[in-house]
Amino acid sequence: ELTLDQLADWLRRFAELIAANKDYLTDLDSAIGDADHGANMARGTAAVVTHLDDATTVDALFKKAGMTLVGTVGGTSGPLYGTLFMKMGMSAGSVTELDGPAFARAFRAGLDGLIARGRTELNDKTMVDAMAPALDALDAVLAAGSGLPAAIAAAQAAAAAGRDATTPLVARKGRASYLGERSAGHMDPGATSATLLFDALTDPAA
Ligand code: ADP
Ligand code: MG
Ligand code: MG
Repeated sequence: ELTLDQLADWLRRFAELIAANKDYLTDLDSAIGDADHGANMARGTAAVVTHLDDATTVDALFKKAGMTLVGTVGGTSGPLYGTLFMKMGMSAGSVTELDGPAFARAFRAGLDGLIARGRTELNDKTMVDAMAPALDALDAVLAAGSGLPAAIAAAQAAAAAGRDATTPLVARKGRASYLGERSAGHMDPGATSATLLFDALTDPAA
């Protein structure tokens, strides 16, 4: 089970990880984009953190987070992460906690929304390349009857593998696609921030 407080802590840790990796994300984006992914995500997630205590239900928590990202991130990644969280909230509904399968369902609904908005396919060298295999792993481990901690560990490993696998790809979406073949050989910044979203599911103190 993930309580409302634990889900808020997830977003708080995501903001911490983004802040800690801000320069790294910007360096990645400077190679194949416009060198703002770290700043974009740091600005957006810092704004999300200021609203976390307002929500009394899971849908309100995620909808507010999503709207805040849309309103503050600025880059392409803002509406995409924003859609992820808004659709996650709509799927979760007006509840105060999510069990493993409900969390996985909500996250999947969010990813489906992101993919529809970005018109993205797997291997386009985007954040989807980390998220999709991670959610597949989450589903598979839950379906096998293991608990949420094991499913989260599997999702984290799959996200990291998906992120690493973006390096040789030629980008087919976003600014990196303007570089054509020259986008190959660089890790995708959005896949890297998306991996941090999965890393944030683990409480380092637990
Ligand atoms: P911008 O490119 O507008 O400066 P960011 O630098 O914040 O925005 O985000 C860039 C990231 O957005 C890319 O690394 C990629 O992962 C992601 N991205 C770009 N276009 C798409 C898309 N259509 N679908 C999914 N993700 C995308
Ligand atoms: Mg950029
Ligand atoms: Mg930009």
